[in-house]
Amino acid sequence: MSTWHILGAGSLGGLWAARLSRAGLPVRLILRDQARLAQYRVAGGLTLVEDGLASLHPIPAEVPSTDIPIRRLLLACKAYDAEEAVAELAPRLTPGAEIILLQNGLGSQEAVAARVPRAQCIFASSTEGAFREGAPEGNSWRVVYAGRGQTWLGTPGERRAPEWLEELQRAGIPHDWSDDILAKLWRKLALNCAINPLTVLHDCRNGGLRDWPAEVAGLCEELSELLHACGQGAAASDLHQDVLRVIDGTAANFSSMYQDVACGRRTEIGYLLGYALREAQRLGIELPRLQDLLQRLREHLAARGLPVD
Ligand code: NAP
Repeated sequence: MSTWHILGAGSLGGLWAARLSRAGLPVRLILRDQARLAQYRVAGGLTLVEDGLASLHPIPAEVPSTDIPIRRLLLACKAYDAEEAVAELAPRLTPGAEIILLQNGLGSQEAVAARVPRAQCIFASSTEGAFREGAPEGNSWRVVYAGRGQTWLGTPGERRAPEWLEELQRAGIPHDWSDDILAKLWRKLALNCAINPLTVLHDCRNGGLRDWPAEVAGLCEELSELLHACGQGAAASDLHQDVLRVIDGTAANFSSMYQDVACGRRTEIGYLLGYALREAQRLGIELPRLQDLLQRLREHLAARGLPVD
């Protein structure tokens, strides 16, 4: 049985680590540096808060430079940290090592795969929700399981699911193998592009976008055009209806991008709207509404001293 090495003991990484570990599976956390490791040891482990109940999981942890070989890695950092984090671990990966990529959006998966061409990359798209409790975030080893959902896993072009999915079953991690994971990632990216930046610019909860129907419809039209041009026609089907459904179904929520900006955190815009527009440029298609949205969002971020990529 391979050990689950988990890089990024943040929200999703912590949620996965606690569930795998309590099912009796071997887990090791990879923390950023010795300072983080020392803070983690003082905390005595990771705390998972689920349905209001807290449980402590004293999962072993290490720093990236340790020489323990890695056969299976769950990469649970943000998209903008993924390539560099994997590069640091490359010397420890065994030939054919599996890397499960939990990053939202697109672009980081390609960058990781290019860095470690001998590894098998498995992409994931998750609708689960978790956050770190307590400030400052980096010192928080307390993860709250905030929203039940599903994680789709897949490798482009691979229909056969790996045998270790059974370990996720045992750990109670809701999942499915997808034989078209790129379609799932593109669909989620499109939903994100139609909703999240507008919630930031209009300073509203998701439901507030009901006041901007023409703007939402215009973005959906351009996103559908882009999906078709990328060969992702299935991901374009009923996009506008689905966006309206998500706006209604999550009306009281603040989008993840809204929360990032409100807390002064870097967003993953470069792997969402930014990626969409880079693809449009590569394909030579003009998407003026999306372009304008990106421009306005960048100005908004720059005015708050946040990275614009
Ligand atoms: P997060 O809470 O910010 O956690 C990211 C973790 O990665 C942090 O603990 C960070 O460590 C760590 N990290 C970054 N670079 C590292 C490095 N080089 N070495 C070691 N650790 C490193 O992020 P998250 O919310 O779990 O999100 C992870 C990904 O999942 C994102 O792409 C996000 O969009 C996606 N996602 C999240 C959710 C959710 O509900 N949270 C849902 C669906 C998808 P430090 O604390 O030291 O900075």
